[in-house]
Parts: sequence; C-alpha cells; structure tokens
Amino acid sequence: MTNKLYFIANWKMFGNLKSVNSIDNVKKLSKKKDFSKAKIIYCPPYTLLQEFVKKTKNTKIKIGAQNSHDEIDKGPFTGSISPKMIKNLGADYVILGHSENRENGENNFMINKKIKSALKAKLKIVFCFGEKLQERKKKKSNLIIKKQISHSLSKVSNFKNLIFAYEPVWSIGTGKVLKIEDLKKQFIDIKFIIKKICKIKEPKVLYGGSVNTSNIENLKKIKEINGFLIGGASQNSKKFIDIIKKTIN
Ligand code: PEP
Repeated sequence: MTNKLYFIANWKMFGNLKSVNSIDNVKKLSKKKDFSKAKIIYCPPYTLLQEFVKKTKNTKIKIGAQNSHDEIDKGPFTGSISPKMIKNLGADYVILGHSENRENGENNFMINKKIKSALKAKLKIVFCFGEKLQERKKKKSNLIIKKQISHSLSKVSNFKNLIFAYEPVWSIGTGKVLKIEDLKKQFIDIKFIIKKICKIKEPKVLYGGSVNTSNIENLKKIKEINGFLIGGASQNSKKFIDIIKKTIN
C-alpha cells in the first residue's frame, strides 16, 4: 500500500445525536503522528451531517454525504438533497453509485448525472461499483465493472476529485469476502480498466464489503488497495479504530 490510506465510514441509515460522541476516540487517533497516513472520512446520514462537521472542526477528519440529487442546487424534489446543500454544510465528500441505491433504481445514467453535478459543486466523489454474485459466477465481473465505469463516468474529465470504491454487491453486509489472491487479481484488473477508460495514471481504488477487525490483516496485504469503505464495522468506533490501527501498523 502506498501513500495515504483512506478509511471511509459509511454509517448508512444508522445513528442519532448521541452516537456522534462515539467518534471522540477516532478524533484522538487522527491527531497522532503515527496515523498521519490515515485519511478518515465519515459519511453519516443527512440528519447528522452538520453535527459531524461541528464535531470534527479543526481535525483532519473529513465529512461526506451518502448520496445527492443530480440537480446541483435547488428545485421541487421532495425528500432530496443537492450537492450544493451538502457543500454548504461544510461537508467535502459524497458517496455515489452505492449498490444499495442501485438496488432502489439508480442506474449508470443517473449516477453519471449525479457525479457531474457533485463535481461542479466542488464535492469529492466516492464512486462505488461492483458486480452481483450471479455476474461473478458467470465470470462477468470485469464486463460489468467496465460498463459501470464507462457509463457512470461518461464525459467526466476531472478525476482529481474522484475516488473509486470496488464493492462486490454480494460482499456488502454479508461477511463474505473474495479470497485474497482473487481480490488482488481483481484489483489489478480494475486498475487496468480504470487507467484505460479514464486515461489517468494513478487511480485511487478502495475496497468495500464486510471489512472487519479480523479480515483486515489479510486485506491490507494487497498493495493495490488504497483504503477501505467500511459500513457495519465503522459504526462501532472501537472496531473502526482497530481496523485503522491494524492497517497502518
Ligand atoms: C458499504 O455499505 O459500503 C459496506 C461496505 O458495508 P459493509 O462494510 O457493512 O459490508
């Protein structure tokens, strides 16, 4: 693994005002010189974004949202949040293309529009992609990944503010993770695909899917992985810290 390592906490639809305090120890860790390599980003639900921004003021921890509308600023879209609203709150990132939203009907075309708007609003994107179990079984993973990347990033040219996150759908929240040698091979393929499609030299690609305090010891051996997008385990600060410590040490 090289340079900065990302640890992105995706809290999904969990957390309340009280749980914001649970990140105090993560704040402490982020200030230690030994962990300066760790780039920690919290993505809480919208309802807690402002609290997280306040709580992490004057720290290196960054805040992101879990989705945004394709309209950059405002409009008659009940229940939606625009990228400018997120930026205005003091958050810097947004997760787009998460499979839980794809399951709810988001397609590559919609994700493409969202990415373009969020980039215009000067948000950094965590762009998620990954195959379903049936697609892997049929050896179609790379085909699906190529399609997701090329369609979702069509006519996107500024990749400075975009991080990739490979999240096999069947790995999310299931405890199932590819064998390390297979995951390494998948990462080599993914980096090749991204370099070719996006014409960028050093894409940052994270892994997400059931990362926990045990499997991190193996996952961290894959030098092609630039960090982790962590759901379930990130909601428990002790586990999140343990994952960061085990990766960095
Ligand atoms: C996620 O939701 O992005 C994720 C990786 O979840 P989990 O770690 O719980 O599998």
